Amino acid sequence: MTSATVRSHGLSKSRITAFEQCPKRLWLGVHRPEVAEYDDGAKARFDAGHFVGEVACSLHPDGVMIEAEPDLSAALAETARLIGEGHPGPLFEATFQHGGVLIRADILERTAEGCGWTLAEVKSSARAKDYHLGDVATQLWVMEGAGLRIDGAAVRHIDTGFVLEREGDYAGLFADDELLGPARKIAAARPALAAQARAVLAGEEPAREPGPHCADPFACEFTAYCTRGLPQGPEWPVTVLPNGAWKKWARQGVTDLLDLDETAMTKPREAMIVAATRTGIPFHDGDGARAAMAEWSYPRAWLDFETISAAVPRWLGVRPYQQIPFQFSLHLEQSDGTITHHEFLQCDGSDPRGPCAQALVQAIPAGATVIAYNAGFERGVLRALAGQAPVHGAELLAMAERTVDLLPVARKHWYHRDQRGSWSIKALLPTIADLDYASLEVKDGGMAQDSFLEAIDPATTPERRWALEEALKAYCMRDTWAMVLVARRLAAAE
Ligand code: SF4
Repeated sequence: MTSATVRSHGLSKSRITAFEQCPKRLWLGVHRPEVAEYDDGAKARFDAGHFVGEVACSLHPDGVMIEAEPDLSAALAETARLIGEGHPGPLFEATFQHGGVLIRADILERTAEGCGWTLAEVKSSARAKDYHLGDVATQLWVMEGAGLRIDGAAVRHIDTGFVLEREGDYAGLFADDELLGPARKIAAARPALAAQARAVLAGEEPAREPGPHCADPFACEFTAYCTRGLPQGPEWPVTVLPNGAWKKWARQGVTDLLDLDETAMTKPREAMIVAATRTGIPFHDGDGARAAMAEWSYPRAWLDFETISAAVPRWLGVRPYQQIPFQFSLHLEQSDGTITHHEFLQCDGSDPRGPCAQALVQAIPAGATVIAYNAGFERGVLRALAGQAPVHGAELLAMAERTVDLLPVARKHWYHRDQRGSWSIKALLPTIADLDYASLEVKDGGMAQDSFLEAIDPATTPERRWALEEALKAYCMRDTWAMVLVARRLAAAE
């Protein structure tokens, strides 16, 4: 292995991955990075992945991190020095270059015999995915080309069977999927692939129409750039028909929903969507909605949870990706129409489950009908809480049993064409009230999770934490108030 100057437009593992998805993505990433547009959750996803990498490294206390300071050339030189001097490993971010491609290997460990090395590519997913194989193959090709003997190459992913039993003890959090054999087959074609990628970078911006590849395996950050100026499709495309029902029409060359006839639809929901879209008159079956909700006795507890689910569990007894409620909003409606609002939010970084369970049993009277939107989620959270806060277990299980669902009532008895095929509460609310989520600082569940993580970060200032808490409360309260408004509109006279 030799140290080498890193060329500014050289290739890396991530650039090879970008090229495999789309040559234009590689070209734009190198020559026009300023036109990329990242979604709101991109930084949070990056931080979460980085944290998983840190935890994986922390399981090797003897490991050495190879810093790219002042630049990657220094990392190349330091890697060569350590390996040349017989360092026992593990090495984190060991850096190699071969065939004009530079890679940094997450974790390199010496084999027991000490002659070879094994690579672990750390991922925050619960299993190895198809595109991970390409990442491993690129690294394998570069490291072996640089003169390293590789005896194993694995994707080190999250083991979802892990449970955190001692604070900070993450031994067992990861599992390896060994991929050396299949990666070697792909690695053999990497020189040709790298040559193609270099040819693309040396040329003009490639012509490539947007298509399904723009979201597979990653949502491309250049989608807005690539779709700008393209001819607009119909205002009401057939793609608003849910559950893939539009594909049948697309295969027949029908793209405009207004070209369909509701009487030709075989399913009532599709007929409802076509009719409401063509006429502009919302579908509303008030009698049906009232009958569906007639059994919902008072008091009615309109309930919504916000939850956090992380690859690395924070609290004892928690599994990777387990949904942990950190917030709820509750509108409690009495038979005389009186409504009071109750809420719970815990942003001090401690386990929120016990206090959340206690706040629920204090706020929801025994016998109340609990109403949620897409209630399977709230039922699941209540049942899990019952096991985690056994002192309130019986009350929480009873709540779960009494939980009913507003979503199927809305789906069957209301449709406004502005929902564009969706019955999510966010799509539905603006069609029944002069209210939406656009004006809120926290606009969806993903932003709620990101805000919660920022709020519990010890580095967050008290002022910022207060602002985040207020934004979270406003968002969750909007969800339960939206349910109340939707139910009232559904039950109103047509
Ligand atoms: S949006 Fe699609 S076509 Fe454009 S660069 Fe990305 S993947 Fe390629």
